[in-house]
Amino acid sequence: MTANTWDLVVVGAGPAGSTAAIAALRADPDARVLLLDAAAFPRDKVCGDGVAPHALDVLADLGVDVAALVAGTEPITSLRMVSPGGVVAARTFARQAAVVPRVLLDERLVRAAVASGAVLRRRRVRTVVAAEDEVLVDGDIRARVVVGADGAESVVRRQCGARPAPAGTVAVALRGYAPADPWPAGEQLLTMTGADWPAYAWAFPVGDGTANVGYGQLVTGVVPTRARMTERLHHLLPDLAPLPLRGHRLPLSTGRPEVGHGRVLLTGDAASLVNPLTGEGIYYAVLSGGLAGAAALTPDPARAYRRALRERLGGHLRHTDLLARLTRRPWPLDLATAAAAADQDSFDRFVEIGLGAGKVNAHLLAALARATGRHRGRA
Ligand SMILES: Cc1cc2nc3c(=O)[nH]c(=O)nc-3n(C[C@H](O)[C@H](O)[C@H](O)COP(=O)(O)OP(=O)(O)OC[C@H]3O[C@@H](n4cnc5c(N)ncnc54)[C@H](O)[C@@H]3O)c2cc1C
Repeated sequence: MTANTWDLVVVGAGPAGSTAAIAALRADPDARVLLLDAAAFPRDKVCGDGVAPHALDVLADLGVDVAALVAGTEPITSLRMVSPGGVVAARTFARQAAVVPRVLLDERLVRAAVASGAVLRRRRVRTVVAAEDEVLVDGDIRARVVVGADGAESVVRRQCGARPAPAGTVAVALRGYAPADPWPAGEQLLTMTGADWPAYAWAFPVGDGTANVGYGQLVTGVVPTRARMTERLHHLLPDLAPLPLRGHRLPLSTGRPEVGHGRVLLTGDAASLVNPLTGEGIYYAVLSGGLAGAAALTPDPARAYRRALRERLGGHLRHTDLLARLTRRPWPLDLATAAAAADQDSFDRFVEIGLGAGKVNAHLLAALARATGRHRGRA
């Protein structure tokens, strides 16, 4: 093996890429794993910084010290959700979540990848050419397998000929950091109105005196302007003072993700793995990254990865895809919020669908039917 020949090259060292490297080295501690990122760490990533407990579970199972990942932040114990029609569900989470600024989270994760034996280099990858028995990166790096973890604008995805995102599966969002005082500590706020639907604003307290605040909207036609999105954010969070905002795209998942072929595997945002109901992507990123990393060193990486991902997320992705279509109009969200407000079990199940790998089941359908009955009774 020459100096620039690797068992695995991971392009992108966000949550998906770092977790892929950690998982591959856990499967084979002697593997030669190269982690490439265009940015120098620590670096920011435009995000709501909400970290579901499910993401921490995946990382803990891979031996990552999750207490160190969330250090300096306060646990999130509850959620207040205001539906487009003004229905409020405010309840305690079954399990604590976290809000960890990505400038910290991603640096901590990439250091964990390096500590487990990955070599980190700064490079903006431009070409990925797959041959039968190896992949050539930028013409000078040879890999047995490449994991594409290079985010929403993935070069690896484009180079391996993946389909473009279907209409209605991209969202745009703006985010900033504000003083946390207007919102209760330890509570995540999601608030919506029917205007520019589907869309919501959030305030997620970090626990250091600041809150991550933002606004995200599904692109259903013309991409909304920054000015319009800023106006919507301030309408939905009236206590917010003007603040610098940064924007980013969210490639939302469909029921059938395209996750690579042969020796090139796609993970996280590069595979359009973002929950289409909530915009949550860190759990999918670490889950898909971990599965891709573990599959990378097997004889048939793409097959092993596809199978593992299908087992963990297949049914869930089909359900969220269906729910995303149903909530193209605001009123189903009013019913779902009413069902979550009425009983804790429904709330917990909706949280599993929005943040984890939950599915719609008979209990939720019955709760939605009851919420519909109550709504009709009032009408
Ligand atoms: C405004 C907003 C709010 C969000 N809020 C949440 C939230 O609260 N909770 C949640 O779970 N998810 C949230 N998401 C989604 C979440 O941010 C993403 O799903 C997550 O970052 C995906 O991780 P990743 O590792 O796939 O990609 P990224 O985190 O984007 O990492 C990709 C990495 O690849 C590198 N890179 C890119 N191109 C190249 C290249 N050509 N060569 C080398 N390196 C490259 C980048 O520098 C970067 O480090 C939000 C997204 C947005 C936009």
